[in-house]
Amino acid sequence: MFSFFRKSSPPAAAPAPEGAATPAVEGASTAAGDGAVPRSRSARDWLHADVGELFFGKKPAATAPMPPAAPTAPASAVPPTTAAAPVQAPAPAESASTSAEPSSDTDRAGWMAKLKSGLQRTGGAIAGAFVGAEIGDELYEDLEVALLQSDAGAEATVYLLDELQRRVTRAHVRDPAAARRLLARCIEELLHPLERPLVIGAQTPTVIMVVGVNGAGKTTSVGKLARHLVDSDQKVLLAAADTFRAAAREQLLAWAERAGATGSGGSTGRIEIVSQEGGDPAGVSFDAVVAGKARGCDVVLVDTAGRLATQANLMEELKKIKRVITKAEAGAPHEIILVIDGNTGQNALAQVQAFDEALQLSGLVITKLDGTAKGGVLAAIALWSRSRALPLPVYFVGVGEKLADLQTFRAREFAAALVE
Ligand code: GDP
Ligand code: GDP
Ligand code: MG
Repeated sequence: MFSFFRKSSPPAAAPAPEGAATPAVEGASTAAGDGAVPRSRSARDWLHADVGELFFGKKPAATAPMPPAAPTAPASAVPPTTAAAPVQAPAPAESASTSAEPSSDTDRAGWMAKLKSGLQRTGGAIAGAFVGAEIGDELYEDLEVALLQSDAGAEATVYLLDELQRRVTRAHVRDPAAARRLLARCIEELLHPLERPLVIGAQTPTVIMVVGVNGAGKTTSVGKLARHLVDSDQKVLLAAADTFRAAAREQLLAWAERAGATGSGGSTGRIEIVSQEGGDPAGVSFDAVVAGKARGCDVVLVDTAGRLATQANLMEELKKIKRVITKAEAGAPHEIILVIDGNTGQNALAQVQAFDEALQLSGLVITKLDGTAKGGVLAAIALWSRSRALPLPVYFVGVGEKLADLQTFRAREFAAALVE
């Protein structure tokens, strides 16, 4: 039923009543409270002007829960509970209240086209190596260059070439087009452990902390996630823990207003913001989690300020935010998502490693794969991810600034975009 998130049945505990006291919000301004979501968009139309359109465009797609690529995804490596991205309706009690809002096929097709065109240079170089080639050293050397140029890094490049060579030999492949398909398969299998849906609702509220360097696309992604959640009838609270930039709150507010104005059944108050300009980000996060609990929110999204993993004091601040969130709710944050700009190149892997070491990440969002991104870095991340206790999933891939530009990650699609 949820194509964008996997909805897990929450524990039977009833959410706190709407009118419950929210002791921790003093000192923080609740910008958009229940029923108080401003309807006017005018002031903030500089941002994502067509979100409403996209929302309504998605509505009729309720009968087409999945993009076509899903059924062909290899299921072998993934346990049945997480294999299919469109997870079936959970508890019957929920199905009445959570209307399906899957990404439409049109959204997904448009997204695929953007991803392919974004990765065109990489794909062209890799596919080009096979054209008119004979299977042999020259082909492997050309592929090595193309993979290195795609930001796959030395280790993943060697790994993929070894895999390819082994399979080509085993199957006595002579046809370069067949070899290219084998490479796509190798990449797909390498990336497959990263394909896992974001699970919402196992805890109420599900607290998600979003981190990354400046300009990676954190706030945009938080806004898009909030929209998707609200569209799926989830009550969302946004913590504007980037307290250094007033615009960060404005940016979130713009998304919140649209969600409030266009939420299912025209309902308002499904999205709220806790913010405190210039305040302590840990304090804002704490308040947000406390408020989210008190108000029966399904999800609390904590948008943090950008920072480099090399800025030790700022990384300490993130750890503090995490600790304080745990203080507000044991077991939280349930997700710590690193947002990476897809154009970062090989440095993306270093970012992932450093943020993971500091915070123990639970997932990634890769943005801006519509630009000059090369995409190969995902292979490097996937290979590194094997050294972790658990693979680090890529929950979403962004190919633009619109709502529909953020979609779930599928290893097969990505591999195809990389070698075609
Ligand atoms: P520690 O650094 O992990 O020991 O966390 P502290 O308990 O010192 O809290 C760090 C920050 O989190 C404080 O400066 C507050 O801003 C915030 N914080 C912690 N506990 C509370 C609380 O009960 N209420 C509020 N509003 N903020 C809190
Ligand atoms: P933050 O500093 O990490 O919060 O980054 P923002 O969310 O403010 O995004 C920085 C810029 O990147 C904004 O102009 C966004 O519109 C843009 N952006 C975010 N995601 C994408 C994407 O997937 N593709 C493109 N082309 N731009 C994006
Ligand atoms: Mg931001």
